Amino acid sequence: MERDRKLVWLEDRCIRCGLCVGVCPFDALKLENNMIIIDHEKCTLCGLCVKGCPVAALEIRPQLEAIAKERGVELAV
Ligand code: SF4
Ligand code: SF4
Repeated sequence: MERDRKLVWLEDRCIRCGLCVGVCPFDALKLENNMIIIDHEKCTLCGLCVKGCPVAALEIRPQLEAIAKERGVELAV
């Protein structure tokens, strides 16, 4: 699904507490092999996990890939 914004997990900040997984009402997050996996099809961008994360390791950001593609530039990361 093409959307303007997207939930992003910041791996370097995350302490793997799993709180976000329990907070999501839509079962869109999983903690697997020490990684947070986001199901973007299920995520409604409600923001509850962003508010619930104790170390600000989740953010809702603009669709950087789409913006970059539109402008013809390559993302560095
Ligand atoms: S933004 Fe809402 S729906 Fe998306 S993963 Fe976080 S809690 Fe779940
Ligand atoms: S709540 Fe934040 S720190 Fe905890 S597992 Fe989720 S993203 Fe990582």
